[in-house]
Amino acid sequence: MIDAPRLALRVSPPAERALKTRHPWLFESSITSVRGHASPADPAIQAGTVAIVFDRKNRFLGAGIWDPDGPIRVRMLAFGNPEPVGPALFRARIDAALDRRRALFADPETTGIRLLHGEGDGVSGIVADLYGEHVVAKVYSRSWIPWLDEFFDALQSALQDRGVQVQSLLIRAGRKVADAPGAPKWLRAPHLHAGTLPEGGALPFLEGGLHYEAHPEVGHKTGFYLDQRENRARVRALARSHVQVHPDAPLRVLNVFSYTGGFSLAAAAGGAARVWSLDLSAQALAQAERHFLLNQANPDIAHAEHRTVVDDAFSGMDSLARAGERFGMVIVDPPSFAKEGSQADRALEQYARLTGLAVRLLSRKGTLIQASCSSRVGEEDFFERVHRAARDAGRPLNEFARTGHPVDHPAPFAEGAYLKAIYATADDSGGRGRP
Ligand code: SAH
Repeated sequence: MIDAPRLALRVSPPAERALKTRHPWLFESSITSVRGHASPADPAIQAGTVAIVFDRKNRFLGAGIWDPDGPIRVRMLAFGNPEPVGPALFRARIDAALDRRRALFADPETTGIRLLHGEGDGVSGIVADLYGEHVVAKVYSRSWIPWLDEFFDALQSALQDRGVQVQSLLIRAGRKVADAPGAPKWLRAPHLHAGTLPEGGALPFLEGGLHYEAHPEVGHKTGFYLDQRENRARVRALARSHVQVHPDAPLRVLNVFSYTGGFSLAAAAGGAARVWSLDLSAQALAQAERHFLLNQANPDIAHAEHRTVVDDAFSGMDSLARAGERFGMVIVDPPSFAKEGSQADRALEQYARLTGLAVRLLSRKGTLIQASCSSRVGEEDFFERVHRAARDAGRPLNEFARTGHPVDHPAPFAEGAYLKAIYATADDSGGRGRP
């Protein structure tokens, strides 16, 4: 796209410094001038226009694509060296992302991989997941609209060159993108960019040898929470070591906000005897049941008793505690409670309430695994709050691990970090709140 229109921008000194550290976002408030336009709010500037940022001495600082929505005005794609925005740049970002995931590609037992994680992989506003031989991408910014074909063609050929035979490539758009003026109509529904989808639309894949399915047309994200892969592996290993250390004490596990039972299946694969999945969504729980059915060839899963509970997490956990139910492991992985910074305090309150409820359900020395996926909630605040809530409930925690982002969800800048989890056993000292 040699003839594509381009913008020349100047930015504030703090923004210059941020771009020198390769920060992927340029905010409208940092743009001091756009040559030929009265202001960076000029509605005449088309989404996806290439924007070149120059420093005070007219040297190239970076380049990106124009985003008319929200506070981020330019999605940065290149820094330091002038690289034209187009297929070669896209291919370079995609190849770097695939290289980063080499170890995952080498594991034949794991075929669910996040290929592109937006900013973390230098492609702000786009994510793409591989499920077996199927790719599901999500476009979160209108800046990509003029570039979609070139971008996804580059992704397909990069995968092909690595021996991944792509059966289908489905593109979904965030609601704001699909409904934006100028967005092509096909973005309003999941769009099959290439290939054919399996009948029924479920995309089968493996994780640690277990069979899972993603439902990109109806499911959350691209259909599954790949970001919890490493935590699922830990849960499986923890269950396994429990079973080995206490062969006579069958492990009971409660998975709260279970969605389609990712953690439930992992716990069962580790040898947990009884696993309960609790979620508000009957549809998600039906898929959790199906995940157990799909893995009946695994003897541990065949032996596990899986039960689903359609309920609100807060009142459901309270009812279980009142009914005297106790579990050796409780997993709490809720949706993001804070979409904006102003909601962070309220989110922390909710995390604390969940911790208080979860520790009441833990048997002696039981293990709590609690995660947060709110980028607006800082990890130190989260961990501190969980500890405090458990102390207040009379079950102080002995923390033994903290985890963050897996390799296919890189978060090289502060605002991109969202996922954190704590692993701890609950003490019985304190007395208060004990059954
Ligand atoms: N832990 C899941 C992902 C959680 S997604 C995994 O590892 O795959 C969030 C889930 O929380 C969704 O399935 C949603 O249905 C459920 N949910 C949201 N609010 C809820 C509530 N108040 N009570 C119970 N479940 C809730």
